Amino acid sequence: MTAVHRPWPSLPHAAGTGGSVVVDRCQVCGAKDLDSVLFLGYLPPVNQMRPVRQRPHEQPAYPAELLHCRRCQLGQLGLIVDPAILFPAYYPYTSGTTRILRENFPELQRESTDILGLSGSELVVDIGSNDGTLLENFRAAGHPVCGVEPTLMANRANERGIRTILSFFNGEAAAHVVRECGRAHVVTATNVFAHVEGVHDMVEHILAMMREDGVFVSESHYLMALVETLQYDTIYHEHLRYYSLESLVHLLEMHGLEAVHARRIPTHGGSIRVYAARQGTRTVLPTVRQMLAEEKAAGPLDGRLADFSRRVVRSKLQLHALLRDLLGAGARMYGVGAPSRASTLINYAALDRGMLECVVEVTGSYKAGKYMPGTMIPVVDEAKLFADQPELALLLSWHIAGELMPKLAARGFNGRYVVPLPEPQVVPAPDVGDRMTTPGREAADASRGPNDGKQA
Ligand SMILES: [Zn+2]
Repeated sequence: MTAVHRPWPSLPHAAGTGGSVVVDRCQVCGAKDLDSVLFLGYLPPVNQMRPVRQRPHEQPAYPAELLHCRRCQLGQLGLIVDPAILFPAYYPYTSGTTRILRENFPELQRESTDILGLSGSELVVDIGSNDGTLLENFRAAGHPVCGVEPTLMANRANERGIRTILSFFNGEAAAHVVRECGRAHVVTATNVFAHVEGVHDMVEHILAMMREDGVFVSESHYLMALVETLQYDTIYHEHLRYYSLESLVHLLEMHGLEAVHARRIPTHGGSIRVYAARQGTRTVLPTVRQMLAEEKAAGPLDGRLADFSRRVVRSKLQLHALLRDLLGAGARMYGVGAPSRASTLINYAALDRGMLECVVEVTGSYKAGKYMPGTMIPVVDEAKLFADQPELALLLSWHIAGELMPKLAARGFNGRYVVPLPEPQVVPAPDVGDRMTTPGREAADASRGPNDGKQA
């Protein structure tokens, strides 16, 4: 076992408070002089949506401030909200079925097999394993697998034969895994490592169930992608941290780990996948040095974040200028897709129901019949978009605009598209001469938006 280098800071926990905890020091390194990058206002919790026709009543709102730690280069939210508020019991799983997400898990299985030289006999454990979709890929390759999942999706996974422990990931769950399945060769955590408070505890629990030569693979939204493509709409209270590779390296080192492979992946508008192992147990691939060099070459992060903050304000003004002309001329506009990020955009850009008449969601969405958080903009079935043919469709999942527009057009939407970020623009209806073979299913999948709802 490699020696742990430093003690890590212990922040007060928000879980169980029924409220929130202010981040007064860096979640990774403990530094207290955090820079304020951006303040998006007080945002409502994205998953507490009120039924349509219910009179609005008192509702909590939480400050959404992005902070930067100059010591370890971590981007982080200035407030941690009790997960019981962010993930109410009735908050169901929404499957992420965009093309990018569908392709990501098989690709992760292939890449890790290749890089780690897996034979198919090694135990793979997935944290926040949901219905077992990622593990299914490893099981198909012969691996014994085990998931840890706090929601009832664990039952669905078990029904399909993916052994899954119904629990939050904590010390007990890690011990449970070891007791039942042994210690893991590979531990995966996709879209969860930036979401949970107490990240140092989480790493220690992972180490407790990982073999000495084991590897921990994480996928998280990437701080550089946030800045490059102005994805301020991914800032909401489920996302506690925005990692650069430099910040991840810092975090890993505090636990005797090192990054052995790193690269960008396209999920969630731009994520980072990092393989980590105990120091000295694995060959460090050149990708780590290359990516760190790229981050450095992009310039000092504090300057880039200051520029990011100015560009966010400018994009809001540009969006309003665009909409002033279009809506002022009488155009009607519906939103397409209600992922969590749509709530940040709508609230920060101050779109109300006079500007955005409704937001359409795929048939069967639990969000239909509710108001968008903090507004009286109703979420309705997507059939309304095709029946009413508004002049404009605002793409709230704008990061997959290229995937969405041809599908909506193929299903018969004739209007133009407003792409709100990174540069607000109006896009004419695409040519749909080359229609897809099963446009209905594909468009329904795509309009569901990214898997921002994944609790893991
Ligand atoms: Zn720090």
